[in-house]
Amino acid sequence: MASDTTGRWDVLPSGKQGSLFEFSNPAEGKPSTRDSSAERALPPEVLARMRELVELLNRYNYEYYTLGEPSVSDEEYDRLYDELVALEKETGVILPDSPTQKVGGPILEGFPPHRHKNPLWSLDKVTSAAEFRDWYDRVLRAIAAYRAEHPEEDIPERPTLVLEYKFDGLTVVLTYEDGLLTAAATRGDGTVGEMVLETVKVIPSVPLSIPEKEGTFEFQGEAIMPLSALARYNEEHPEKPLKNARNGVAGALRNYDTTEVRKRQIDIYFYHVNYASRRTFRRHTEMLDFLQAMRLKVHPYHKVFTDVEELIREVEAFAPKRAELDIDIDGMVIKIDEIRLREILGTTAKYPRWAIAWKFPALEVVTRLVGVEWRVGRTGVVTPTAVLEPVPVGGVIVRHATLNNVEDIERKGLTFALGRKVRLKRSGDVIPMILGPAEDTPPDEEHRIRPPERCPACGALLERDGPFLYCPNTLSCPPQLARQIVHYASREAMDIEGLSEKTAELLVERGLVRTVADLYTLREEDLLTLPLFKERKARKLLAAIEASKRRPLSRFLYALGIHNVGRETARVLAKRFRTFDAVRRATFEELLEVPGVGEVIAESIVSYFREPHVQEVLARLAELGVEPLPEAEETHGPHPLAGKTVVITGTLSSMTREEAKARLEALGAHVTDSVSRKTDYLIVGANPGSKLAKAEAYGIPRLTEAEFLALLGG
Ligand SMILES: [Zn+2]
Repeated sequence: MASDTTGRWDVLPSGKQGSLFEFSNPAEGKPSTRDSSAERALPPEVLARMRELVELLNRYNYEYYTLGEPSVSDEEYDRLYDELVALEKETGVILPDSPTQKVGGPILEGFPPHRHKNPLWSLDKVTSAAEFRDWYDRVLRAIAAYRAEHPEEDIPERPTLVLEYKFDGLTVVLTYEDGLLTAAATRGDGTVGEMVLETVKVIPSVPLSIPEKEGTFEFQGEAIMPLSALARYNEEHPEKPLKNARNGVAGALRNYDTTEVRKRQIDIYFYHVNYASRRTFRRHTEMLDFLQAMRLKVHPYHKVFTDVEELIREVEAFAPKRAELDIDIDGMVIKIDEIRLREILGTTAKYPRWAIAWKFPALEVVTRLVGVEWRVGRTGVVTPTAVLEPVPVGGVIVRHATLNNVEDIERKGLTFALGRKVRLKRSGDVIPMILGPAEDTPPDEEHRIRPPERCPACGALLERDGPFLYCPNTLSCPPQLARQIVHYASREAMDIEGLSEKTAELLVERGLVRTVADLYTLREEDLLTLPLFKERKARKLLAAIEASKRRPLSRFLYALGIHNVGRETARVLAKRFRTFDAVRRATFEELLEVPGVGEVIAESIVSYFREPHVQEVLARLAELGVEPLPEAEETHGPHPLAGKTVVITGTLSSMTREEAKARLEALGAHVTDSVSRKTDYLIVGANPGSKLAKAEAYGIPRLTEAEFLALLGG
């Protein structure tokens, strides 16, 4: 495999790539790659030169990326490439298999479904030599039975077996029609997959055309991401690491940004001709030869066996060595070479009888647990990560392992495993799992894993909820803050319009907001330092923040993000206690009396308000004028405005528009900005606007301010 990390085309200045893409984008009405009439209009010598350049460059790519044996220097390649680019620009013609088409660009069409010409099989599997021998015996019996019935046919007694790697990647099928690559699809359900042609085209070793210029072919292969590329990718993206190479491939091929394919060094190994309109094969090895003749990449490891015991020895010797490969292998595939025997053996409802996957057990190693790190996530949950003595597993050096949660440590018998040897399993995932101790763990205090008492990020006292440890400080704990602000501002909570996730993250990142209360001290100048914030947008957001100071109590309680307190619990708490102070002072026992509040919720609420960090921010919120409105008195039956859609027009003398809105919402009414046929009531203040006329036209009942106040109960 070529180890080049940048790819030859990347030597072009990016401006050139951009113009190339534009050039070949049919949506722009520019010449398309399939415009053969444009080709015909060219002077024959120009077209011939372009054809020659495309063929030369494609051959050089093949030598470089598939064979790993370049025959020209990079300078020579670039010179020819530039000549081709210039000709394409000048003539407006791009030959369909021009290497300039491999540069890629944004994907506009998505990933539509694509039907395979023949269904793709999945393989039955075995996990031991004994199971494999059973499979082989079944094959021999089936062949013997056929031979007995058809003595006239010359059928071998024993099959030839081909042994290949079982790649842990993503199966893809490429279609070539009359020599040109016309489709590339994922396996999907085996019948219909997703079209990923645009991303597959960018893979350096994939040829846009093949030497066989007639007929239709479907070639099946496995797209893979090298483990070295995976390790590098995860180093560069610590915030969003890939779980394993398989996910890395799937994410690259289904990516709207085709450059990911290059970054992740995606490649494809082909191993099957799934459909051929004009060719038949007698042997699997013949197929592999054909694939190679078509310049497709075939993995060099494929061995032919006639002695089954020899094959078993090979598999067993290979299994422990697979960790040394730079690609993820989760087993071997054994296929019968003779196509005639495949026909005789046929298939079951699910699997072909002529092939079997021999799956390897997950890789297991032993290393020392040297420490446990505790991190607070965005949700406030504190997760332990094991720090290990570095150990090579499956081609990567492992330094960390997940421990999931506190309960997991206890359940796996790791409570006294600190500084001791542990068993580690890696099954294709980058972050391995600790299975349990690899030595005795007598309860010595020096080996005890001690969960922290305080939040490692903010110092708040941690709480335990079932298997989880969490930080209750939703108002100023740094890792939780951005997410909490988004929650606080959400429509069902304080309804601060214009406070997006991106904005919240920037506010926290730049230190403009260190607690939820800081939202209320933001100034226009602060917001203008953020990207995309102009005066209008900044003022709108500030007004929305200001308006959120008076919201119904239930919304405020929900907005605080108290662990285990959702909208419904917030609503019953507000109903029961009426004021924020009453909720805050409620004892564990008093809380238990509230319908729907059990011990877990009551404990969450009590410990929340007990936390000094929380108290501090709540005091600050009150100081800044955040004063939740008392919940409306519970009346007999629903309030007449509950569930009604209400619009306000004109100025109210007793309260602001926002306040009126909040009071209405506390009653369960929907407040909208414009009158429609669905409006139930229009509240009319002084100097009403055009809404009044519209409401009259629709015959919508009106309420004066006095009537509205009466309905509110004074
Ligand atoms: Zn914290």
